[in-house]
Amino acid sequence: MNTVYFDNNATTRVDPAVLAAMLPYFGELYGNPSSMHTFGGQVGRAVREAREQVARLIGATPEEIVFTSCGTEGDNTAIRAALAAQPEKKHIITTRVEHPAVLSLSQHLEKNGYELTLLGVDDKGRMDLDELREAIRKDTAIVSIMFANNETGTIFPVAEAAAICKERGVPFHTDAVQAVGKLDIDVRELPVDYLVLSGHKLHAPKGIGALYVRRGAAYRPFLRGGHQERGRRGGTENVPAIIGLGMACDLAAANMAEENTRVLALRDRLEQGLLAAIPDAIVNGDVANRLPNTTNISFKYVEGEAILLLLDQLGVCASSGSACTSGSLEPSHVLRAMGVPFTYAHGSIRFSLSRFNTQEEVDHVVRELPRVIARLREMSPFRAGSEAEAALAKPACSC
Ligand SMILES: *Cc1c(COP(=O)(O)O)cnc(C)c1O
Repeated sequence: MNTVYFDNNATTRVDPAVLAAMLPYFGELYGNPSSMHTFGGQVGRAVREAREQVARLIGATPEEIVFTSCGTEGDNTAIRAALAAQPEKKHIITTRVEHPAVLSLSQHLEKNGYELTLLGVDDKGRMDLDELREAIRKDTAIVSIMFANNETGTIFPVAEAAAICKERGVPFHTDAVQAVGKLDIDVRELPVDYLVLSGHKLHAPKGIGALYVRRGAAYRPFLRGGHQERGRRGGTENVPAIIGLGMACDLAAANMAEENTRVLALRDRLEQGLLAAIPDAIVNGDVANRLPNTTNISFKYVEGEAILLLLDQLGVCASSGSACTSGSLEPSHVLRAMGVPFTYAHGSIRFSLSRFNTQEEVDHVVRELPRVIARLREMSPFRAGSEAEAALAKPACSC
C-alpha cells in the first residue's frame, strides 16, 4: 500500500484541479496584476475572480477579503488591527486551546503591555459562554475564539460568542482555518468582525490565506508598502496561489455536503474499528460536535511518538498530541487544558482525513494499529510502578 495520509489538519494535498488552474500563472501569465497594461490587466482580472470565489464560500463581499501569506499572518493582522485601532484598550481575551498563531501572539502581547484572559475548556474541549461574558471588560480590545480546534476537531460556539461581543461593543476575531471548507460558514449570519482561513488546509497550496474584514470593522495594515489589496496589505500578490485558493474555495462550495458525508463515514469507520479492537482507548474532544474529518484517540500506557514511528513504517501519516520540548514529552496544550489524564494524554494520536482518502486505507490502519499498540504496551514502562514517575523517567524521544 502507498502512503496513507491521515494528517490533513497539518496540511492537505493540492487538488489536481487547483494545480491545473494555477499552472498558467507560473508560466505565460506572469504579469503584475497592478500594471496598467493589458498583459498585467488580464492577471488582475483573474485575481479579482479568485477574490469573488473566496468571498462566495463564506458569504462575504469581495471588498471584505484581504489575501495574506498564510493563516498565521491573517490571525496576526486581525488581532493587531483591533489593538492598533483602540490604543487605550489593553485587554485581550482568547482560549487556552488556540493554535499558536493566536496563542503565541497573545502571550507575546501580554509581555508587552497587554493583559490576557485565557478562557478554559471542559474535559470535552468545550468553552463556557458565561465565562466569556464575565471576562469582558470596558478595556477589552479583542476577543479571539477559534472556529474549530485543529487537534480534536471540537467546534466552538462562534455565533453565540460573537453575538455576546457585538452586544458589548467588543471586536471579535475567529481563526476559522480548520473550519472553512469543512463546515458551512456564512458571515452574513455570523456577527464576526474578522475571520481567517488558510489555503493549504483546504487543498490549495501553502503560503496563501485570506482575512475577512467586515465592512466598517477597524483595520490597520500589518504589512505597509504598495497599494495592493486596496492599501490593506503591501506586497505584490502571490498570483498563482491566489488563483489556486479561489479554485479550492469553488471546489469546497460545490462538493462540501457530499464530501462531508463520505469523509465522516470513513472517519467513523476508522474510529469505531480502532475502539473495538484496542482496549483502554478513548476519543478526545466533543464527539457530538466536531469536524467531520478528525478523530483524536488516546491509547493508554503508550507514547504517541512511538506509535507514530511504527505507523510511519507502515506508510501511515498521522500526528501525535505530544511534542518534544527540551527532551521531555509534554502533552499538547490542548489536551492539558482539557485535563486529559496523564497516562492517556501521552498516547494521543490525531487522524485527520480528506476527500482523497479511501475505505481501503481506513481498513489498513484498523488492521495494523492494534498490533502496534499491543507491541508497545508489552514494552511500556507505564504498566509497573507509579505512572507519573515512570513517564518522567522514560527517555524515548524521537525528535
Ligand atoms: C494550520 C493552522 C493555522 C496556521 O495556518 P498557516 O497557513 O499554516 O499559517 C492557524 N490556525 C489553525 C487552527 C490551523 O490549523
